[in-house]
Amino acid sequence: MEVVISQKKPSSASADGVSTIPLYRSAPTLEVRLEDFERFAVDRLLVLRGISDGLARGKKPDEMEKLVSDLWKANMRHPNTSEIIDKDIISHFVLRLVYCRTEELRKWFLSMESTLFRYRFRLETSDVHRALMTELGIPYKSVTNAEFEGLKEKLSQVARSIGQQLPTSDTVYYKVPWEEVSELVGSRRVFIKKGYAYVALNQVVSFVIPHFRSHLSKALVLTNRKWTSMIREQEKDRLTPIVEALSTSYLGPDYTQDKEFGEISLKDIDQVARSSFPLCMRHLFDSLREDHHLKHGGRIQLGLFLKGVGLKLDDALAFWKAEFSQKVGAERFDKEYAYGIRHNFGKEGKRTDYTPFSCQKIILSTPGVGDHHGCPYRHFSEENLRAALGKMGVGSRELEQVVEKAKGRHYQLACTLTFEAIHGASCDSGINHPNQYFKASQNILKEKKQSTA
Ligand code: SF4
Repeated sequence: MEVVISQKKPSSASADGVSTIPLYRSAPTLEVRLEDFERFAVDRLLVLRGISDGLARGKKPDEMEKLVSDLWKANMRHPNTSEIIDKDIISHFVLRLVYCRTEELRKWFLSMESTLFRYRFRLETSDVHRALMTELGIPYKSVTNAEFEGLKEKLSQVARSIGQQLPTSDTVYYKVPWEEVSELVGSRRVFIKKGYAYVALNQVVSFVIPHFRSHLSKALVLTNRKWTSMIREQEKDRLTPIVEALSTSYLGPDYTQDKEFGEISLKDIDQVARSSFPLCMRHLFDSLREDHHLKHGGRIQLGLFLKGVGLKLDDALAFWKAEFSQKVGAERFDKEYAYGIRHNFGKEGKRTDYTPFSCQKIILSTPGVGDHHGCPYRHFSEENLRAALGKMGVGSRELEQVVEKAKGRHYQLACTLTFEAIHGASCDSGINHPNQYFKASQNILKEKKQSTA
């Protein structure tokens, strides 16, 4: 296949070789196998989602630096070292196609790619910084020796106040309009005179990132135009389905049927629901017990989850029938609803063994009036969320943190904090799937039981 990727290999020479950061400026023609097109994009997506989670958790810059470096090493490796840069470039351009398509997607991608670039840039040498600035077309000139000597005392004061080495005549400073480095100005980490900030070479990331960001932002808008006017239609049988699926794809295990915990029996189901169901499933479960009915979206979301946690087909039929027959009668259940349960297990229709829904899919669902499916952190009002969290046993301090994350649209993080509050244990990987929540909860309960036995 030919991908719209044109990119010189990074040419920024460093003292110890070549920069490993491409600037993704333009697109050469590159042959990419369809499977690599998708696989590379998924690997990069794991990095970007990890960054998103780190930012939402409020990690500090040095923690973010480590996180980004670990994520990059874990996901962007390639068996052939010389292919790593190609993988970097290909994955970036594929995700540009994926994330150019709506304002919201563009915003997310722009923010995560800029953060990724920031921390990769920080790890490069000064020579590479200079070369990348030239490649980015950043116009600022370094301060002359004469000007440096005139400002040396002031520059030393600032360096001292932020715990940096005192400047010498070899130290490079750039003279930059102060509004270009507002983050340095805001934190008083730079000397300002007559509207110019004097930025040391080890601080240039603060004006390099806005340049990188601005270029990428324009490129995303252009890519979106090309996508809607041409690529989407031209590639409708090949790339388009991959691109459209990638932004919402779940990247973890499928949890079709839990092998580790085996079956859950009907007699235990209420107790297990109280101890180990995430809020979305707990809400569906409680609504079903209360109303003896769930609408279609709720039946699928809860039904597949229960299958994933190990409820066998016969038990599932008995469970749903026991509830529904109280409302619609046993005969109508057999006629109208049993089919859907068997369908979930691949026993009807296309006979597909359907997979339980991931958080991404549930969060993006659009429940209507009378529906109980969806993700409560996204779809509940604040008042209802508070009440539901209280019912789950979340203490008041943690409850405020959860609500704050939900308001900030960090739904999975809100769920992770709920998990941590209830179980008194951390969940570093974050919650990505309701069945992962269940499994992690059961593991913790099992350990606690063993330690008290
Ligand atoms: Fe369910 Fe996921 Fe929402 Fe948690 S974050 S309530 S597991 S959909």
